[in-house]
This record gives sequence, structure tokens and C-alpha cells, in this order.
Amino acid sequence: MNLAMHAIFDGPGQPLRMATSELPTPGHGQVLVRIRLATICGSDLHTVEGRREAPCPCILGHEAVGDVEAVGPGRDPAWLGKRVTWTLADSCGTCRPCTEWKLPQKCERLFKYGHASMNGGGALSGCYSTHILLRPGTTLCEVPEGVPDAMAAPANCALATAIAVVESVPGPGRHAVVQGGGMVGCLVVALLREAGWERVTVVEPLPARHEFAARCGGIAVLPTQALDLTSGTADAVVETAGVSSVIGEGIRLLRPGGHYAWAGMVHPASRVDMTGEQVIRKCLTIQGTHNYAPRHLHAAMKFLQRHGRRLGLDSVVSTPFGLHELGVAIELARSGAHARVAVVPG
Ligand SMILES: [Zn+2]
Ligand SMILES: [Zn+2]
Repeated sequence: MNLAMHAIFDGPGQPLRMATSELPTPGHGQVLVRIRLATICGSDLHTVEGRREAPCPCILGHEAVGDVEAVGPGRDPAWLGKRVTWTLADSCGTCRPCTEWKLPQKCERLFKYGHASMNGGGALSGCYSTHILLRPGTTLCEVPEGVPDAMAAPANCALATAIAVVESVPGPGRHAVVQGGGMVGCLVVALLREAGWERVTVVEPLPARHEFAARCGGIAVLPTQALDLTSGTADAVVETAGVSSVIGEGIRLLRPGGHYAWAGMVHPASRVDMTGEQVIRKCLTIQGTHNYAPRHLHAAMKFLQRHGRRLGLDSVVSTPFGLHELGVAIELARSGAHARVAVVPG
């Protein structure tokens, strides 16, 4: 019998449980994908630890690469057998955010993978599963040959988001400061350097992350060293740290007319301590970026093809765990020893 197997999340503090379900036949515009490799994202950890609410029971996981196993009517059959990744959200393509505002990630009927109740129509919608059923408004993207699964899996979250963030930053300029040297921060560094920025400083408290930041072309410093950076010398600052305590320093470092991109503080505990006067007198632009549009995922695949090997982007992903070891894999992810921990469901 054709069955999908998945790990089910019933809520924070509860053990993951393995279950099977019958493989669906894709309906109109749907695509059935067999997952090759998935990676554990920081936002999955937020959910597991109860900092981000999830409708339960649910199959977690939104970063993955897989092979197209079946396509429904209305999807090009040429996708069959292709190794693909996909946008982590499904959008309708017709509402005002999708059309007029060019923000499909803010679609009025947005559906996010790895974050839907199995009882509410989200049956096969997470990546910690042998299969996922993609919806009609989800953009598929072929993974280029030579790009390993481990490199491509986190691209539909971290890299595509980093590309959207960097797109918002005018430039290239002389000096950019990136606050936070996690995966998104380091990728922002690599993208800024590729865009021609002369110098990119990364402020990151964990010394273990400095090597990757340097490999991406940044000058990695500890927050205490960042205090020595001269005020008003950054053309742009990018916040990927996820903590609002860094904002005062970002404002200090920006030059008049500078650009401040915010991307990491995606949680309510992010109240910012600054005055309107600081922003006005310095003529600053503050730009928030959340998730990305399909074009950013296509750009991500091109970037991996050009720079993935040179930057060793697969080396920051752990050796893969089986699906039944997901609990252990999540523990390892919590330790922060790897930028991403991989899971192979097959
Ligand atoms: Zn993610
Ligand atoms: Zn829409």
C-alpha cells in the first residue's frame, strides 16, 4: 500500500509521534513531492519550545528538497521526477497583496507549510514526512545540478529571505554592518559582498560563528569590539540578530541618510528603545522584510549554483538523521552546534 510516514507534533513538551497516512492523488494544481532531505529551522525550535503557537496536531518543517512524484491537473507534467524546492508559503495570486502590493507573502489567503493543523486541511503539509502535498499557489523551483540537497534545503527559508532583505538595501556602499552571524546574517554578508559592498562587519556574540561569517566575506567582531566602531560610519545596517537590544547601536553606527534593514526580530518581544528624533535628524530609512516572493527563491538557486561550493554552504548542515530520530535531531539543533540539522525521511 502507498503510505506516507510522518512525525506528528502534538504540542510543546509532548513527544513526537510517528504516524502513517494514505498517499493522496494530487488535485487541481497540487503536486505530490517525496522529501529527500529537510532541515530544522530556528522557527521550528520556537514552535517546539512553545514560543510560537502552532495549531496541533501538525507536521512541522518547511525547509526541504524533494522529487516530484505526481502532479495534479493544471500543473505542467514536465515537473515529474524533477528535484525541487518550493516557496514556504502558498498564496492565491489574485488578492491585493498578491497583485497590487507585490507582497505574495502577505496574501489574504496565505498558507504556511509546516504550520497547519492536520485536522484543518493541512494533512500532508510539513516536511518532517516522507511526502508533502503542495498547493496550487506554491511556486516550484528546480534545484540545479551540482547543488547538494543539504545546501538547497534551507534555501527556501534562510537564503531566499536574505536575498529579499539585501534587495531592499540601496547600494553598494562602502561599509555595511550586519547584526547577528546566524545563517541569515552570514548569507546577507555573502550577498552584500557579491553586490559590491567594500566592507561588511558582522557583529556576533558567539565566536564559533565567526569562521563562517569570515568565509562569507565579512569581518566578524564581538559586540564588545563593535563598541569601537566609529559612530556614523555605516551606510547600511542589517538586523538579523532577533533581539531589539541591538537597535540603539545600529542607529548610532548609521551615517545620515543611512538605511536600516530589520529582518530578525520576528516575535512580539521586540519592543524597540529609540526616539523618533533619532530617525528624523539622521534622515534614516527603516525597512522591515518578512519572508520573500517567488523570484527570491529562483535567485537563491542561482546563487547556490554560483557560490554554494566556494562558501561551503553544505558544510554548515549536520550529517542527516532519520525521521524516527527527529527528537534527537531537534535536541542537536537546540545546541546551536550547526547552522542547520538535517533529516532524511526516506
Ligand atoms: Zn525556516
Ligand atoms: Zn493572495
